[in-house]
Amino acid sequence: MNLLPDVRVHRPATLDEAVRLKAASEGARFLAGGTDLLVNLRRGLGEPAALIDLTGVADMGSIRRNGESLWIGAGVTLADLARHPDVMAAYPALVEAALAVAGPTHRAAATLGGNLCQDTRCVFYNQSQWWREANSFCLKKEGDKCQVVAKSDRCYATYHGDIAPVLMVLDAEALLVGPDGARRVKVCDLYRETGASHLTLAAGEVLAVIVLPPLPGWRAAYRKVRIRDAIDFPLAGVAAAMQRDGDVIAGFRMAITGTNSAPLAVDAAEVIGRRWDADAAAVVAQHLRKKSSVLRTTIVGPAYRRRVIQAMARKLVDDLWGEA
Ligand code: FAD
Ligand code: SF4
Repeated sequence: MNLLPDVRVHRPATLDEAVRLKAASEGARFLAGGTDLLVNLRRGLGEPAALIDLTGVADMGSIRRNGESLWIGAGVTLADLARHPDVMAAYPALVEAALAVAGPTHRAAATLGGNLCQDTRCVFYNQSQWWREANSFCLKKEGDKCQVVAKSDRCYATYHGDIAPVLMVLDAEALLVGPDGARRVKVCDLYRETGASHLTLAAGEVLAVIVLPPLPGWRAAYRKVRIRDAIDFPLAGVAAAMQRDGDVIAGFRMAITGTNSAPLAVDAAEVIGRRWDADAAAVVAQHLRKKSSVLRTTIVGPAYRRRVIQAMARKLVDDLWGEA
């Protein structure tokens, strides 16, 4: 790892000031817990003109009720998120996902916003400068060809965040604040499927708050598989939410991570109104196969990741059906 490059760090106290600083400094990056960004910068993956440290922005660090919804500031650390009584009571799947991120020391600094906005990853990209240079770099940075998909004109680096799929199945929204004001989008719409630019935030926009709606009668859960259980990104992860009405599924949502350049919702609405049985599981498995596109972006081969996500999804929904 290199030393961090010399870079000017601003520490605004308000969201407005953060947005103003970003607009005034082309090439500046927001910095939250730094557990993704600083590691990448020390690998030579980016040379920001300045860093805008969001940890002093008071509005971003709280969790509060707003009517029926729960508003979680993007600056809330994952450790605080996982032990907040309102989150624990109403959204246990979010607690599961937060506690599945990295290790305890990361979670003490890592924030919700940074988790959602973390960079995509690839075994040919998350390497030191000299390693990448020895391999002639790649399309995502400094090179002219993709090492994963030869002759491709786009990067297939994978999104490996744990929390986004859970927020998707919980139907959460993101409040974005930028130079042109504030807007609310579904968490699903924060992403596009391209590894070099997977976030849909407009220039200068900051993710300020995640809004969770009330979900009476729904149960949700998250599972991931990783190389080191104590601390690792998901090789594949799946979240599901289910509402059961007697012997039939009344509501169903699924989302995946670790497979594509964005976390993706898996639409399997045909299972609504049916029992959860082998036929319904086959329908979900088919949609999951169609949606996920696992490539050679991690040190673990694609065949295992393709199979394990299917197995995890089946087990997860079996359990939700049993508990709902
Ligand atoms: P930062 O590093 O500060 O920022 C990440 C990115 O988000 C930057 O591009 C930054 O500009 C942008 N950003 C931050 N906040 C905002 C905002 N409010 N609005 C707009 N942009 C913003 N992640 C997982 O999901 N699961 C894992 O298992 C996991 N394991 C890890 C293991 C190791 C060893 C390491 C080093 C990292 C791991 N991570 C993992 C990645 C990272 O630790 C987490 O994703 C963490 O939540 C990132 O949050 P942060 O606040 O540190 O983000
Ligand atoms: Fe580079 Fe291709 Fe990996 Fe993207 S998917 S980081 S272009 S090797």
